[in-house]
Amino acid sequence: MIDVLLLGTSGMHPTSDRWLSSVLLRCDGDLILFDCGEGTQIPWRRSHWGFRRLTTICLSHWHADHIVGLPGVLFSVANARRTEPVTLYGPRGVAPIVAGLRVIVPDLPFDLNVIELDDGDAFTLAAAMTGHVLLGQHGLPSLAYRLDLARARRFDRDRAEALQVPRRHWRNLQHGQDVTWDKGSATPNDVLSPPRRGISFGFVTDTRPLPGHVSLVHDVDLLICEGTYGDPGDNHKANERGHMTFAEAATLARDARVRALWLTHFSPALQDPSAWLPEATARFSPTTLGYSGLTTRLSFAADE
Ligand SMILES: [Zn+2]
Ligand SMILES: [Zn+2]
Repeated sequence: MIDVLLLGTSGMHPTSDRWLSSVLLRCDGDLILFDCGEGTQIPWRRSHWGFRRLTTICLSHWHADHIVGLPGVLFSVANARRTEPVTLYGPRGVAPIVAGLRVIVPDLPFDLNVIELDDGDAFTLAAAMTGHVLLGQHGLPSLAYRLDLARARRFDRDRAEALQVPRRHWRNLQHGQDVTWDKGSATPNDVLSPPRRGISFGFVTDTRPLPGHVSLVHDVDLLICEGTYGDPGDNHKANERGHMTFAEAATLARDARVRALWLTHFSPALQDPSAWLPEATARFSPTTLGYSGLTTRLSFAADE
């Protein structure tokens, strides 16, 4: 399962009631942070999820509202006595910027490994978790992310016994290895269920909607997407500044057949996002307006 916690929902700068847009995921106790604007650690502290288990940071891009909180978060992770490495992913060109921010937190008790990703790259976060990115359209390199948590195929004991597979080989078959023994052989397909749907998550911000986003986040359980502007009259601003309106985010969610959409990264000028929610729900009804502290649990389907 994956727990999702929306830390903040503001774009450009925080407001008196909205922190900057960032998201925290928790899987097997480990934490994955998406974007890290100024003050990210404040709503994070309120969550009581702790800092020590932060394994991964995924940055969309290096505009200030997505990266300035990094030194403070790294300091808090250090203060929580983490010693294991942390991996930071971001678009090509992010490494010298992170190095610049590191000047003010030079001594960390853990290694910070910075990995620059190109359009279409895939990466591995944990044994069963993979990521994919797509380069957006925002005036500077900006990445949209998809994460997938794979689900193991079910092991059919009855079938293994019928095939007289020795028990010492069961684990190998579960791990996808062919086995042979003195009286026979078996392959994983002989004893494992068909592949099962895993859990998937998408994070798309600070970009115009592109056709590639539809395939990137196809069928994800939850898409967190920017809706910088609500008023359709602000379409030209979204176009000029490399952002999306509520209607565009909802159209992406609908076209990608995602299961649920949370809107975030609201323009500070958007004082009451709920006034424009119908712009999204008219196109994609399972849309929720993001707020700091909004949380959900994404679980494997019960009936598979
Ligand atoms: Zn932004
Ligand atoms: Zn930006």
